[in-house]
Amino acid sequence: MSLFWPHCGLVVLARVVTKIMPDSESGCFEWTGAKYQSGYGQYDLGGRQWRAHRLVWSLLNGPIPKGLVIMHSCDNPICVRPEHLSLGTHRDNVLDKIRKERHRGGKNSPGCRAPRADTTLQ
Ligand SMILES: [Zn+2]
Repeated sequence: MSLFWPHCGLVVLARVVTKIMPDSESGCFEWTGAKYQSGYGQYDLGGRQWRAHRLVWSLLNGPIPKGLVIMHSCDNPICVRPEHLSLGTHRDNVLDKIRKERHRGGKNSPGCRAPRADTTLQ
């Protein structure tokens, strides 16, 4: 594993590591620091706000190409485990959500709830 920020990467990585808690059940490395309302980890680096998973990916892989996103294979927005992160397009991310039925209205959508037993269909 190498760092792509030769002047400060190790210092930043050392700080970031203090904000990570491994989850033994999921295998995720969960962010314990500040979070955006969207649920993603937040990290202030010299006045620039980073999403924690993007920062970790960039520390280890280099700059994120413009227009690309960092996707979570684990679907856990606070996870920063490098093995759970991958580079993709927005389209890749949407297709992944649809495949996993995590899109709006999908059975695994965060907003989707099982109907109550007394719910009647109309
Ligand atoms: Zn994960």
